[in-house]
Amino acid sequence: MFGRPLWVILLLLLVASLVWWRVPADDGQLSRTALVMGTLVEIKAFDDEKDKLDSAISAAFAEMTRLENLLSRHNPRSEISQLSAAAGPFTVSQETAELLQLGQSIARRSDGAFDLTLGALKKLWAIESDSPQIPTAAQLQSALSGIGPDALTLEGLQVQKQQPGLQVDLGGIAKGYAVDRALNVLRQAGIRSAAVNAGGDIALLGDRQGQPWRIGIQHPRKNGEVLVTLPLTDCAVVTSGDYERFFERDGSRYHHIFDPRTGRPARLTQSVTVVAKDAASADALATAAFVLGPQAGLQLLEDLPDVEGLLVGADGRLFRTSGLRRGD
Ligand code: ADP
Ligand code: MG
Repeated sequence: MFGRPLWVILLLLLVASLVWWRVPADDGQLSRTALVMGTLVEIKAFDDEKDKLDSAISAAFAEMTRLENLLSRHNPRSEISQLSAAAGPFTVSQETAELLQLGQSIARRSDGAFDLTLGALKKLWAIESDSPQIPTAAQLQSALSGIGPDALTLEGLQVQKQQPGLQVDLGGIAKGYAVDRALNVLRQAGIRSAAVNAGGDIALLGDRQGQPWRIGIQHPRKNGEVLVTLPLTDCAVVTSGDYERFFERDGSRYHHIFDPRTGRPARLTQSVTVVAKDAASADALATAAFVLGPQAGLQLLEDLPDVEGLLVGADGRLFRTSGLRRGD
């Protein structure tokens, strides 16, 4: 789930080492970046006490690393890897159980567009590896067999897979969850203004020196260009796009968000941005809406309280939920 080609990781590490800065600027802001979950994560926080800021940010990064170890498919000792390897019922931690519950509820709500059981499919495409491949129809069929919202049952802390080979992948929700928990560490440390950004999964604490944070949403086809700027306070905003992790073959783009009905990259959308109270929900909902496309995807977001979103369809058209149509 957090895998990337080696050269991307090396490049990110280089960038991280170059931009690892501690800016005890006059305005009481401190920003630091680090590579966690295969993504360059930036944590920015404001406080008058520099030592407090520094230790709070270190603790927030440590929290994200803890969650990477708990939830990553790439770490064979993670709970998720152990669950995937388990043949029978498997007991998880309270925290993992709650995250699985949240994922399952969004899986049901989106009619299976969001799916926690795509581990085998993800491995098959290997989109984030150095040698991605286009699977055959037979391979797809086998990777999709037995997946879906009913493929995992949770009873308390006990998780039961409907078939022993089922592979769990939290790639569509774990980063958002980690961002939420990092922000919570900052909050617990007494910080009142902060932003955690894990490659477009953003959680915001409070405002930015009396003003809303201004979050620029990446244009899905114009690299480095901002599509829309959203003024936001004390919430999460997450973007999923087909431009982040993909390969091209014979003029077609193969990216990392799969339609569980076909086993192929979802085709109706270029990008989705979801604003919600927490980044875990926003992350999963963005992936779900991406798969569902402009009509059903926007409807999913519109029907949920405290959730707004904007979606760029395959043809580049921009759609917004009603709460984002006002204003700008
Ligand atoms: P990113 O990780 O780039 O922010 P997403 O949040 O959209 O992007 O998550 C994409 C990841 O989620 C994929 O790499 C894969 O691990 C997983 N995934 C792909 N398709 C689905 C799906 N339909 N439902 C749930 N998870 C998915
Ligand atoms: Mg997601």
